[in-house]
Amino acid sequence: MLVSRDEKPTPFTDRRGFAAVTPTTSPAGQTATDLDDLAQLQERLSPGALVIDADVVEGYRRDWADLVAAGTPRGVVRASGVADVSATLAWANERAVPVVPRGAGTGLSGGANAIDGCIVLSLERLTAIREIDTQRQFAVVEAGVINADLGRAAAAQRMFYPPDPGSFEICTIGGNLATNAGGMRCVKYGVTRDSVLAMEIVLADGTVLTTGSAAKKNVAGYDLNSLFVGSEGTLGVITSATLRLRPAPLHPPLTFVASFRSLNDIGHAVDGIQASGVVPSLLELIDQRTINAIEDYRAMDLDRSSAALLIGQADGAAAERDLTEMTKRCEQSGADFVLRATDAEESDMLLEARRLAGTAVMATGPTVIEDVGVPPGQLARMLEGIEEVGRDSGLRIATTGHAGDGNLHPILLLPDLTQESIDRTLRAGEQLCHRALALGGTITGEHGVGVLKRDWLRQQLDPVALRVHHAIKTSLDPANILNPGRAF
Ligand SMILES: Cc1cc2nc3c(=O)[nH]c(=O)nc-3n(C[C@H](O)[C@H](O)[C@H](O)COP(=O)(O)OP(=O)(O)OC[C@H]3O[C@@H](n4cnc5c(N)ncnc54)[C@H](O)[C@@H]3O)c2cc1C
Repeated sequence: MLVSRDEKPTPFTDRRGFAAVTPTTSPAGQTATDLDDLAQLQERLSPGALVIDADVVEGYRRDWADLVAAGTPRGVVRASGVADVSATLAWANERAVPVVPRGAGTGLSGGANAIDGCIVLSLERLTAIREIDTQRQFAVVEAGVINADLGRAAAAQRMFYPPDPGSFEICTIGGNLATNAGGMRCVKYGVTRDSVLAMEIVLADGTVLTTGSAAKKNVAGYDLNSLFVGSEGTLGVITSATLRLRPAPLHPPLTFVASFRSLNDIGHAVDGIQASGVVPSLLELIDQRTINAIEDYRAMDLDRSSAALLIGQADGAAAERDLTEMTKRCEQSGADFVLRATDAEESDMLLEARRLAGTAVMATGPTVIEDVGVPPGQLARMLEGIEEVGRDSGLRIATTGHAGDGNLHPILLLPDLTQESIDRTLRAGEQLCHRALALGGTITGEHGVGVLKRDWLRQQLDPVALRVHHAIKTSLDPANILNPGRAF
């Protein structure tokens, strides 16, 4: 053992109390050459950064994607700064050792799962919020900062960092950047990419690249921010970023909840709201199975008999008018119950229920969380498609999602972990992707391709687009060490 760690991360099998799919690999012992190589790596790193204790390493093998197999890493580097990241990549590049960058491991597509013989490069210790500049309206943060910690630090200075994935209390900014994460507020304020001004990124050979500028407008050179945001750890390791902040809204947003008798009605309501020209600051959907999972997980006083709920918010000077327009569209589309939150407590409770949706459904057993996206006006048809896939496959599907963005998360619930069930679930997932593509949409709106969706990407990207992807990857990572085989 080179180093050990006092506190062990929670292994996957303990996280939600049921057994995961058995890994496809066996934890083979390290050879003398491996250990010699690792000793050389350790010499280049800060004390304690390299961990090879099998029990500790186990906690870094997987993310939250239940069905995606994980390999066995040869070690974990818990970087304490950019120098550790650089040294790890230079060492790995010389030996063609795969490196899997990792934030908090909350990803839902297997992108942070270990590869046999890899180094897992964890950014979790880079947690400094270096600067919050209220005048120039940006924050400079390290990659391991937890999303909600940045939100709280910004709020303390009357500023606002919009991207808020459902996992915001546990996921890192580096992971958000690498997946271009979305969230509930993105319908008005944009996804992670829209908040990025500049980044520090370590390339595969260990050199450090700086992208972008703190200026609001900047068109000098290629838009490298956009290239690296969403690249899922395949092009470089993000170590810090300058992120755009906004002044905090002067008034709390206004909130409504509408209950519907069918998913089809809710789809029409959202399509109607989009057609009205109103830009909600939040528009989220929870179907009946999800409502019941939330109530089983934590009683929130939601109506278990409702076919689906739509939760919406409006903020800014026109909030009152926008909320009225949205509730009218819900009533016109057949909502049987529309309620405006009367105070902040009621509003927070509704949002809290929505935020719990993923966790509550995942707590019911093994799942595959889909992440399809469709263009405005197509939500009702996608919701119909989800119901058809549920009927055809015989699987239970709980659907939640960012309805205002057309980004739905049909969560496929596996009856058991037999190979037949797994195959049936993956086929149903593929069917959902087909439906989204047929409507002009995408196989992933925010969770990324990772391993789960790699084979389906070919259905979305044409051969020329794939060729360009390969050309970019080869030029930035010729030895193919950075998260190889992930994303495309
Ligand atoms: C309950 C729950 C709710 C969720 N809700 C949402 C949601 O609303 N919206 C949404 O978009 N996602 C959501 N997610 C998915 C997940 O939280 C996001 O994808 C998040 O951005 C991942 O962050 P992480 O720090 O956990 O990254 P990880 O899971 O550790 O990594 C994700 C990917 O990014 C790469 N990576 C991580 N850090 C870096 C880095 N510093 N440099 C380069 N590559 C890196 C990894 O290799 C991997 O490919 C949810 C997940 C859960 C469990």
